[in-house]
Amino acid sequence: MIIPDLKNFEVWFATGSQHLYGPETLQQVAEHSQKIADAFNKAKSIPVKVVFKPVVKTPEEIYNLCAEANNSKTCIGIIAWMHTFSPAKMWINGLKILHKPLCHLHTQFNRDIPWNTIDMDFMNLNQSAHGDREFGFIMSRMRIERKVIVGHWQDKDVQEQLNMWCRAAAGWSDWQGAKFVRFGDNMRQVAVTEGDKVEAQIKFGYSVNTHGVGDLVAVINKVKEKEVDGLCDEYNKQYKLLPSLKKNGKQHQSLRDAARIELGLRKFLEEGDFKGYTDTFEDLHGIVQLPGIASQRLMADGYGFGGEGDWKTSALVRAMKVMGSGLQGGNSFMEDYTYHFEPNNNLVLGSHMLEICPSLANGKPSCEIHALGIGGKADPVRLVFNAPGGDALNASIVDLGNRFRILVNEVKAVAPKKALPKLPVARVLWKPLPDMQTGCAAWILAGGAHHTVYSQNLNTDCLQSFSEMAGIEMVLINKDTTLYNLKNELRWSEAYYK
Ligand code: MN
Repeated sequence: MIIPDLKNFEVWFATGSQHLYGPETLQQVAEHSQKIADAFNKAKSIPVKVVFKPVVKTPEEIYNLCAEANNSKTCIGIIAWMHTFSPAKMWINGLKILHKPLCHLHTQFNRDIPWNTIDMDFMNLNQSAHGDREFGFIMSRMRIERKVIVGHWQDKDVQEQLNMWCRAAAGWSDWQGAKFVRFGDNMRQVAVTEGDKVEAQIKFGYSVNTHGVGDLVAVINKVKEKEVDGLCDEYNKQYKLLPSLKKNGKQHQSLRDAARIELGLRKFLEEGDFKGYTDTFEDLHGIVQLPGIASQRLMADGYGFGGEGDWKTSALVRAMKVMGSGLQGGNSFMEDYTYHFEPNNNLVLGSHMLEICPSLANGKPSCEIHALGIGGKADPVRLVFNAPGGDALNASIVDLGNRFRILVNEVKAVAPKKALPKLPVARVLWKPLPDMQTGCAAWILAGGAHHTVYSQNLNTDCLQSFSEMAGIEMVLINKDTTLYNLKNELRWSEAYYK
């Protein structure tokens, strides 16, 4: 499985205090922290391992904890909580070197005030209400991006926010040192799929490099007939195969060609330790068909994919696959394709020439073959399906020249009410929030790409944390968006990032 098991990632639970309170109180602080960390670790809603760390009470202990977190291969972030007061100048040197994401959990061990028994001992022990403000000040003073979660640690909503933050940290960690391969360049003359790959590596931690498509063809050509037999059997088991594609069907050879492409691509990605790729229909010399079902199935297994050389979207697909690991629903490469402008029922139909991930599918996809007007290659095999209705979002990263921007548009997906019998590709229908006019205008004003990652299982909170970990701008388009405010936000951000 190409998606890492999120339980292999650790988030460290760090509690700050000081020696002022004496050993008895510090012992209680440690016990409480351990209880919270254990509860998070066991909670089904939290996907990573939560590791209790001994309470830190001095600048040296804090610095050492941060250094240890930086060097740990498994630690993807720190949850920090000040059960008592932890004078925050003690945190400066540690925070200065900390490279891992930080989540400030503003909680309290006791949920309720014990009205009948509360005394000064209780007050001294349970003082995160002001201890966490001291910690918050130094983070703001140092201009450190972080997530702040407020509420009792057993509260469902608190754990859900923690869940989404842990997922963002997992996606961020997965990008560090990741390799993405481009087969061929970007589609000629297209602007938004271009970008600064050096800056992306500095900012995001992943590298993007090109291989001539001939390198891939050499691997595809070495695939054995037996392997092709095996994969065709799997297609037959997993999907509703068009009769002409079945064994002895008159287009069975096309299915074999598609399977061979998938096997070769998979081998190339495995051998090169790549987490995702791009291809382009303008550069397929030696490949019989544009990879359709291959890209769809590789995405379903967790590889990033971007069409037409779109490496930024490929990398984002991958990160969101990791972030969404284990959740219901899927994440896919997507394109705003065509519109339905019926009054009071405006819809976007999202799709691509071929490559929509079957993790979005409502039911068993059918495996079909149809002509493709562009590319000048043989008819490609692809999976065709509908996506269900529900809350979803589109996310896109663009390169504005002086910075990267991530755009998020929350949408309401709608299951298709008609059969669309002639449409030969997977399709998704949605209504952009707050409405079609505002949502699309806002997207266009903010420079959002026509390529996105469509997510059924991640939320804005998760992507905001992700953008903060990356240190890039996020523009959100949701139910509260007005064009007046959005335009101002874009103008003000322009000044901020200058
Ligand atoms: Mn496209």
